[in-house]
Amino acid sequence: NSFEEFKLNRQLLNAIDEAGYTAPTEIQQAAIPLTTAGHDVLGIAQTGTGKTAAFVLPLLMKIKYAQGDDPRAVILAPTRELAMQIDENISLLAKYTDIRHVALYGGTGPKKQKEACEAGVDIIVATPGRFMDIYLSGAFITKQIKTMIMDEADKMMDMGFMPQIRKILEIIPRKRQNLLFSATFPDKVEELTHDFLEFPERVEI
Ligand code: AMP
Repeated sequence: NSFEEFKLNRQLLNAIDEAGYTAPTEIQQAAIPLTTAGHDVLGIAQTGTGKTAAFVLPLLMKIKYAQGDDPRAVILAPTRELAMQIDENISLLAKYTDIRHVALYGGTGPKKQKEACEAGVDIIVATPGRFMDIYLSGAFITKQIKTMIMDEADKMMDMGFMPQIRKILEIIPRKRQNLLFSATFPDKVEELTHDFLEFPERVEI
């Protein structure tokens, strides 16, 4: 029960060590190997379980290092607070890599967020509306996106983000890995998983 089992690179193991994570949590044990193997994953887990690192660590492994200007992964979150929290977790775990990431959310002017994208970015963490706004402003292109993650999908459904999510799915490449995390699994999230995930592995804690 150690992070060494996941064949993470040294940069990630050092960051995990410094973060004080001594052993993977249950959701990390279950989700990291499946995600690393390339599966689509449906994760049913609450906040506080370590779910963020469960998707961030495999993503950082896949991305490895900064490359080109265009994002290769997008993480959607329902709120500004969650987007910021995910982005902070990425900062913590990616600190010994050169991977560039940015959080895009509303409630503040788009200028800085747009400039951060234009400067070159590997991972975008975003609320759906602001993702689309910055995309439509021409700050980045989506054709390099090979991983898409939705966090707190139940909350995204409750907040009425489905139409925006559908638009985002139309503009990103079809061939990609998808991860969906949700605290609960009501019918509308199940419907979303049918549209969004391909032969998903389900992990529930
Ligand atoms: P989350 O459920 O992703 O919001 O994570 C809850 C908290 O647990 C965050 O502060 C994480 O930094 C922390 N955390 C995540 N994974 C571990 C771990 N393996 N050991 C200790 N703390 C962790």
